Amino acid sequence: FLSIKGLAKSFGSNEVLKNIDVNIEKGKVLSIIGPSGSGKTTLLRCLNSLEEPDKGIFTFNDGLTLDFEKKISKQEILKLRQKSGMVFQSYNLFPHKTAFENVTEGPLIVQKRKKAEVKELAEGLLEKVGLKDKMDLYPHQLSGGQQQRVGIARALAMEPELMLFDEPTSALDPELIGEVLTVIKDLARDNWTMVIVTHELQFAGEVSDEVLFMDGGYIVEQGSPEQVLKSPKEVRTQQFLQRIL
Ligand code: ATP
Repeated sequence: FLSIKGLAKSFGSNEVLKNIDVNIEKGKVLSIIGPSGSGKTTLLRCLNSLEEPDKGIFTFNDGLTLDFEKKISKQEILKLRQKSGMVFQSYNLFPHKTAFENVTEGPLIVQKRKKAEVKELAEGLLEKVGLKDKMDLYPHQLSGGQQQRVGIARALAMEPELMLFDEPTSALDPELIGEVLTVIKDLARDNWTMVIVTHELQFAGEVSDEVLFMDGGYIVEQGSPEQVLKSPKEVRTQQFLQRIL
């Protein structure tokens, strides 16, 4: 679906991503794991240009190619952004809109789709994430896990080709994590193309087709979940897994 070559990103003198190559396969789930500060979130944000890479060539299966060493037009950035939907750590719902309105906002305002069509879409998505009966509630009336599920429905409503998850459960109480992970597993079963930054290694093992371990701005190791999580080749991966398990 997307091939990335030579992605680099610095904040001032802090080189956060150093020459990253990564392939995202259509219909597959790629999880990114690694210690705090290793660049996982920055990589994810580069994928939909919430951060603009300093370098790197993005080639999509439909022919769209962006070379960040060259000047990139606003229109191209917009095209890149429209391809993906992002689910944030802290949900970022509109506080004065109901769950239903949070989901319909993008398709109505940004995509200017028809009201009746968007209503049907939003109801279907809220049902998919198990919240049809809560659709008229406001974010403060929902639990963290429910808010995050609205966040997922809201991202899906824009019908992106790629779903990006930035530590979707890290702000949740332990007992609410499962319900969000279940929704993400359902999406994997429906063959959504997804990239997930997560600290939940067991979940990463269950949901991913490929796991990528990052440290210090590099991809240290990548491969099947069995290989990376159960029998890592690299010492840094072994040390990380030992510390966290
Ligand atoms: P965590 O697991 O703690 O979320 P991470 O692996 O996702 O960590 P990043 O959030 O990508 O790591 O951050 C990598 C480095 O980039 C950190 O040193 C961070 O301080 C720096 N950084 C991230 N965003 C910015 C920014 N907007 N401005 C300056 N520095 C930034």
